[in-house]
Amino acid sequence: MKNSLLKSDEIGIFALGGLGEVGKNMYVIEAYDQIFIIDAGILFPDARLLGIDYVIPDFTYLEQNQDRIVGLFITHGHEDHIGGIPYLLKRVKIPKIYASGFAVSLIEAKLGEYKDIKIPKIEEYRSHYTYKFKQIEVSFVRLNHSIPDMHGIAFKTPHGYIFHTGDFKIDLTPVGPAAEYEKLATMSKEGVLALLSDSTNAERNEPIQSEKAIGESIIDLFSNIKGRIIIATFASNIYRMQQIIDASLFSGRKVAVIGRSMENSIEIGIQSGYIKAPSGTFIDPNEINKFKPEELTILSTGSQGEPLAALSRIATGSHRFIKAMPGDTVIFSSSPIPGNQESINRTINSLFRIGAEVITHGPLADTHTSGHGNQSDLKLMLSLTRPKYFLPVHGEHRMLKFHRDLAIDVGVDTNNILIMDNGDVAAISKEGIKKAGTVQAGDVYIDGSGIGDISNNIIWERRSLSEDGLFTVIITVDCQSRVIITDPTIISRGFIYMKGNEALTESLATQIKEFVSKKFEEDNQIHENELKNNITDFLQDRIYDITQRRPMIIPVIRNLRCEI
Ligand SMILES: [Zn+2]
Ligand SMILES: [Zn+2]
Repeated sequence: MKNSLLKSDEIGIFALGGLGEVGKNMYVIEAYDQIFIIDAGILFPDARLLGIDYVIPDFTYLEQNQDRIVGLFITHGHEDHIGGIPYLLKRVKIPKIYASGFAVSLIEAKLGEYKDIKIPKIEEYRSHYTYKFKQIEVSFVRLNHSIPDMHGIAFKTPHGYIFHTGDFKIDLTPVGPAAEYEKLATMSKEGVLALLSDSTNAERNEPIQSEKAIGESIIDLFSNIKGRIIIATFASNIYRMQQIIDASLFSGRKVAVIGRSMENSIEIGIQSGYIKAPSGTFIDPNEINKFKPEELTILSTGSQGEPLAALSRIATGSHRFIKAMPGDTVIFSSSPIPGNQESINRTINSLFRIGAEVITHGPLADTHTSGHGNQSDLKLMLSLTRPKYFLPVHGEHRMLKFHRDLAIDVGVDTNNILIMDNGDVAAISKEGIKKAGTVQAGDVYIDGSGIGDISNNIIWERRSLSEDGLFTVIITVDCQSRVIITDPTIISRGFIYMKGNEALTESLATQIKEFVSKKFEEDNQIHENELKNNITDFLQDRIYDITQRRPMIIPVIRNLRCEI
């Protein structure tokens, strides 16, 4: 199937995820009857999506056009770029995955957990490789971010380069190899047709510290702390973990790693050579009692105050091996993701209550830096590449708009900048750039084992349950004579206290009994489901009138004597 939105000489660019959000990045370039996919990420939902583990893009368009897909190109190994790969492979035939270095290790480890997926060849690219397709050449530009081996991806078309930056910041003293800025200049000389650039920090003006400076600051901190150190960071930040290991070695500490995602990252990091530590550096968490407090670093998950993560459990005393105690210093080597401040505060309060010291990132202690460039970094990227067309990506709508203003500042023509939503297709031709229409895009919810996709309806039900509670009425009916035998039983959870509201529940019970008897009189053959719906509607109105609330209502009809 061809993309009917594009003429044969037009190049299409769109996102199936990543626009209007930070997460589930997935961008598509269509050119000369070929589909190039960039990244396949997940989004970690906020509290509105109760019980949902993550959100992935809607892959329908790719499924319908899978015969034209030439490959999935991965910029780097963060979950918002690779987390959706198993789900994509379940639904869409991908001929090849192109990924580099550490991302390959992470993808292989991830896919190893799924037995039922046919894994395509993973082609490990290096930054000097080029892959040739029909009229298109794909090459790579190493950039700096908070994980090793992050590459921007360049698509050389007959009309110039389309360059997708991936996630980046300008770090002149990076941990790991330097970025290949000279390649950006070369591309610019040959002509950059379109730039798709990371907008995460487009609102931020203040300087973003170099990752190396954070390493030095962590060593300083560790050297001045007398007791045990508990430090929490993102399990995805391999550089930071190495810095924490280095600072521990420097200050004569052993490292105990707590939390499954952290253990996984450390293991993959060591196996693939991205984390280096002499033998004897790590100890088993159940051995910590053998060491003095000043000989210990506990590297933990839970920097966002997640209630089930290790740090929260350490703070509340519910962790198997480790309980926080007076004399401990707890360091947050992270910054709060918007929406998480409250749960972080809860963890910090528990820690203070125990008598632990708490250090968060701030003017007094540089314990964290962002992996995404600030306004001047973004302007530098725009100035180095000098794109004709500009599409801000990887960000909430507000961030994309800020990024557009930065592009205008450095001289990109306003008419050549498109701010899009997921599914909007930009078509580039000799005449210019325009929105050519939309393809299907949206959120697909993954819950628990990831087997079933969850619909909006279930989210609604969970929200309704959490906010308004549950109201159940059990009615016992003689199935032959069709009369109510006992008074209805009312059970409510999270809606009203049964105690103290006897008058209300009794009155509702009487009304239900009258209502059902009347229904039986009107229609003795009434179907059970219809009766249930009628009861639900009736109760919804009555309960709303009395309480102004809408609990979830579940009528249960027991048929006496017909049951056996
Ligand atoms: Zn990233
Ligand atoms: Zn990202």
